[in-house]
Amino acid sequence: MPVRVICACGAVYNLKDQYSGARLGCPLCGRAVDVPTLPPPPPVRPQDGDPAFARETFLLHERHLGVSEKYSVLGKDGAPLLFVERPNHPFLNVLAIFGGLAGGLLHFMAFAGLGMAAKQAGLDAVTRGLLLLWTFGGSALAVVAVAQLLFKKRHITVYRDDSREETVLKITQDSRLQLSTASYTVAGPDGEPLAFIFKKRLRNILRKRWYGLGPDGPLFVAEEDSPILSLLRRMVLGFLGLMHTDFVIRSPEDGRVLGEFNRGMTLRDRYVLDLTPDPLRALDRRAALALGVLLDTGEGR
Ligand SMILES: [Zn+2]
Repeated sequence: MPVRVICACGAVYNLKDQYSGARLGCPLCGRAVDVPTLPPPPPVRPQDGDPAFARETFLLHERHLGVSEKYSVLGKDGAPLLFVERPNHPFLNVLAIFGGLAGGLLHFMAFAGLGMAAKQAGLDAVTRGLLLLWTFGGSALAVVAVAQLLFKKRHITVYRDDSREETVLKITQDSRLQLSTASYTVAGPDGEPLAFIFKKRLRNILRKRWYGLGPDGPLFVAEEDSPILSLLRRMVLGFLGLMHTDFVIRSPEDGRVLGEFNRGMTLRDRYVLDLTPDPLRALDRRAALALGVLLDTGEGR
């Protein structure tokens, strides 16, 4: 922000703010001119947690190793900062589905037996009809409920590096089968929660939106960049495998842009979490990075 100063001779100068508070000689008339002192800039919010988080740009580089999703987090200069892992459990989840089917079968056999006993006991047709309905409906519910109980949650861990010795951040999936709301708790290495991040599935059919809550109130709202592109992505691009979704991260209070999560097609497997619109770090970078990982792993590209 330039400093404006007017000399007694009428000359007007717009000076760089490094001259704030200085006494300069006017090049036109030679008089001494006192440059006004600028108010100090607002302080940058100190970033808690690991020093790796105290920055504006994070690059997420997906690493294709095995079934789990893994990312290297790099700084703007490409230097490695952190390592992220989100395990996948395909085998355990197949087992969970079999467990669900077994639960449904047990339920079916139990109620089919009850139905036969009711017929022998000569119960009326309405009661037996309801029993038959529950034999089928309840069995279907039992399949879902048992599978849901057995599904393995997919937590995310942020490590110092790929040796995975030091944990820097934990992102915990809050419930197993997240039917209406998918929610995650972000915590430091000590387990103290610092943010909740969630999305509502129905709301997300048309345009994806994630919410962030901190200990002191709302942190951010992240939304797909354009409603028209959102529709196009679902209808056309998704089939072509071009499901790259960019998100804009805004302040929930005044809607001002805090950053962007960019999954541009130009940078293969490399996503940019750009928080330069928020130089004072109003948004906790730990919550922002957690959002970035969730947007990529939890969105079913
Ligand atoms: Zn002058």
